[in-house]
Amino acid sequence: MDLRGILDEIAAEMATRSERGAPASYIPELARVDPGQFGIAVVTADGRDHAAGDADAAFSIQSVSKVFTLALALGKLGDRLWTRVGREPSGLAFNSILQLEHEKGRPRNPFINSGAIVTTDAILEGSTPRETLGAILRFIREAAEDDAIHIDKAVARSETAHGHGNFALAHYIKAHGNLRHAPELTLGTYFHQCAIAMSCRQLARAGRFLVNAPTLPRLVSAERVRRINALMMTCGHYDGSGEFAFRVGLPGKSGVGGGILAVAPGKAAIAVWSPGLNARGNSALGTEAMEMLARRTGWSVFG
Ligand code: GLU
Repeated sequence: MDLRGILDEIAAEMATRSERGAPASYIPELARVDPGQFGIAVVTADGRDHAAGDADAAFSIQSVSKVFTLALALGKLGDRLWTRVGREPSGLAFNSILQLEHEKGRPRNPFINSGAIVTTDAILEGSTPRETLGAILRFIREAAEDDAIHIDKAVARSETAHGHGNFALAHYIKAHGNLRHAPELTLGTYFHQCAIAMSCRQLARAGRFLVNAPTLPRLVSAERVRRINALMMTCGHYDGSGEFAFRVGLPGKSGVGGGILAVAPGKAAIAVWSPGLNARGNSALGTEAMEMLARRTGWSVFG
């Protein structure tokens, strides 16, 4: 298969699009990003990188970071994590507070904001925010084998100053006894984790541990990888998760920075980025590009 050719064709096609969605506006630092950009990178099971477009431009990974913090939290707490956060799709927006009242402060899954806040709170146990962020960065750098990966402090500051919705979620969870630390502490860590900057090439490399290929680095057990992938498939795109499964057929996690990490089990890790979002807060062109790639490669978990 001429993967390089396929990626070049996808990037060329995306360059012609005038409808590109709009960058997230509730984090001012993200609203300034040029929506004209598009990058795609794939690491195959043989360890080779393939990339096209703006694949080496750094962007804010935002909620894609939740895949890595989930892996860390499961490593630290094991199945005890599930007493504090569920494993069902929410069918609601990424930042919704609605179900929290009905479900008494136990978020539906670790990929919506409320669930990710609880997951980060779980990793914080026994450490300072600085140590916890160090552990998150170490995990991602080790996964990608790239020590240059860093936190974009301007994005973290921007979200902290405008993160009233997330503060509301954290306080509400705290009111139900499901947050162990002060909301400011947990959210300070969460906003910095979301502000990690990576390129598509770095993100695809960091995603290799989810491929479950004997040739690629393994940071967690094969069984745990399957479970993380299951949650990415059912919950990784918020209320657009069913649509992503239908159109792309691969586990994926999106972020409001416009990045998506997807996994073709046994075959490849894929990262795309385009800052313009669709109505559900997922990268508009990124989703299309994933669909094109899945169709042209035949990669799907559904046969
Ligand atoms: N930091 C963002 C927030 O909490 C992440 C959301 C996302 O990427 O979907 O609002």
